[in-house]
Amino acid sequence: MSQIDDLPPLRDVIRRHELAPKKSLGQNFLLDLNLTARVARTGGRLDGVTVVEVGPGPGGLTRALLAEGAKRVVAIEKDSRAIAALGEIAARYPGRLDIVEGDALETDMAALAGEGPAQVVANLPYNVGTALLTGWVATEKWPPWWDGLTLMFQKEVAERIVARPGDSAYGRLSVLCGWRCEARIAFDVGPQAFTPPPKVTSSVVRLEPRQNPLDCPVRDLELVTQAAFGQRRKMLRQSLKSLGDAASLLEAAGIEQTRRAEEIPVEGFVALARARAALSA
Ligand code: SAM
Repeated sequence: MSQIDDLPPLRDVIRRHELAPKKSLGQNFLLDLNLTARVARTGGRLDGVTVVEVGPGPGGLTRALLAEGAKRVVAIEKDSRAIAALGEIAARYPGRLDIVEGDALETDMAALAGEGPAQVVANLPYNVGTALLTGWVATEKWPPWWDGLTLMFQKEVAERIVARPGDSAYGRLSVLCGWRCEARIAFDVGPQAFTPPPKVTSSVVRLEPRQNPLDCPVRDLELVTQAAFGQRRKMLRQSLKSLGDAASLLEAAGIEQTRRAEEIPVEGFVALARARAALSA
């Protein structure tokens, strides 16, 4: 364990605050402060930046974010057992750590982040990770309130986020993220880095918003990708039938009737979303 601060080792924190990990909350803690520092640095320097962290738990990543110079960290945690442990970190960094007890899925993070540069950095609970990511990327307002997302996912989910047409992992999440963001896998983290170790490898993903993504209604993009990838190996003239007149939709989007979802690049889905919006107006 490295000395990134003068706070007690995380194992002591977990013991004193009786933070035995709960599976129901997706609790796999990172106790290596060198590793949390690496995650914290993935998006570049944090000076002057407000960081929103989802699920700080005992605070290993929180401590790294503060030690790396974040102006302010807003930490949203559902587990009430962790709040006192986080309070000790807040006392060590006066005025820089805001602890919010609650469910991140129901929290207005834009309001909490306030004005100025903002990043989201999180070792996400596996059961709500993709819902949170979708919420950050599929907002009506663009550019969004955040300047970057640094997120730990199961590797399999990370691969879906960065996949390209033709990749076996290419799907709805790839289209949504590829449409609005530049996304890359920064590095992998083996199971042994976590307490308790999960069954699978994890990856840190970095997403940065495109300033001018192709224009299309988010809702329609979600509907066409849902229909198309719901039956990913079928031809689009078949898989898009649930949306109505699939042939007209494909014609309006300039896409051949016999193509399959897994071959269509983001631009094609944007054209389909626009066509659907126009045909249903
Ligand atoms: N950040 C810590 C770390 O890296 O060691 C903990 C990460 S652990 C994978 C996920 C954390 O998210 C847990 O602390 C869990 O209690 C919290 N959590 C789970 N569901 C949540 C939700 N809906 N809203 C906020 N926090 C949640």
